Amino acid sequence: VAVESSAVSTLGVAYLGTVILIRDITAEKEVDRMKTDFISTVSHELRTPLTSVLGFAKLIQKKLDESIFPLIQTDDKKVKRSVRQVSENIEIIVSEGTRLTKLINEVLDVAKIEAGKMQWNMDTLSITEVIDRAFSATSALFEQKGLAPIREIATDLPNIYGDKDRLIQVVINLISNAVKFTEKGSITCRVKHDHQSITVSVVDQGVGISESDQPKVFEKFKQVGDTLTDKPQGTGLGLPISREIIEHHGGRIWVESELGKGSTFSFTLPIQKTTEGDGKAPIPSI
Ligand code: ADP
Repeated sequence: VAVESSAVSTLGVAYLGTVILIRDITAEKEVDRMKTDFISTVSHELRTPLTSVLGFAKLIQKKLDESIFPLIQTDDKKVKRSVRQVSENIEIIVSEGTRLTKLINEVLDVAKIEAGKMQWNMDTLSITEVIDRAFSATSALFEQKGLAPIREIATDLPNIYGDKDRLIQVVINLISNAVKFTEKGSITCRVKHDHQSITVSVVDQGVGISESDQPKVFEKFKQVGDTLTDKPQGTGLGLPISREIIEHHGGRIWVESELGKGSTFSFTLPIQKTTEGDGKAPIPSI
């Protein structure tokens, strides 16, 4: 729509007109909606068969390890090689299936976030519980690599207002990245607070990230350093999703790192303020 007019102002400056441009974005919004619906549908359709493929692969792996391999007592080199190959192959199916499940879940999360369709279950919660749950979920990873988990958590932490499962997802992502990129030493989770916010840091002594790569790790599908060549491949979506989750809570997330020395990923969350003496429920500070 173009609106035009002309006049001469009191200062004698010729006023030639006004142009108003109105762009119809109905069609663009419709395409966005269709794109998100398509991604959600495809992700759901992929997840269902994958869950059973992965479930049965894990079952076969368990049966082979517990009941079948121990029965095969032989000195025949050919048989021994076949047993080793079967064992390695099933391990690959399970680990690649797990990676594909993670990728599908993360693509689904990104689609929901971008469409503003992420469901948030906000409530008053303790960050200590979030950290405990994240450590329990990653305990097998620590055992596999022989790394020590360390907690340095202040005792007088105030509550926060947030989505517990989504915050656990963030801490699991930071801890599992720390384990993935660390070969020896410890992973420390540090939590402190001031009168406005809680800060959670996950500190590792791993490969580290160069200064120029640090801003890139929060971009979608970005994997930096040597991680593409010699590390188990990830999705490059964990950190962008974590950033969306933290920013939705009114916090921020960042990394400090030195190549070869380790990385510290930290995020803040606003603490929950209470309305003084009015007897009402606490209100979130965001
Ligand atoms: P993913 O780990 O699935 O690849 P993320 O978004 O969680 O995806 O991480 C993106 C990239 O950031 C990783 O591939 C890696 O290159 C780098 N990165 C993340 N955390 C660490 C860490 N603790 N130490 C070194 N590099 C890291």
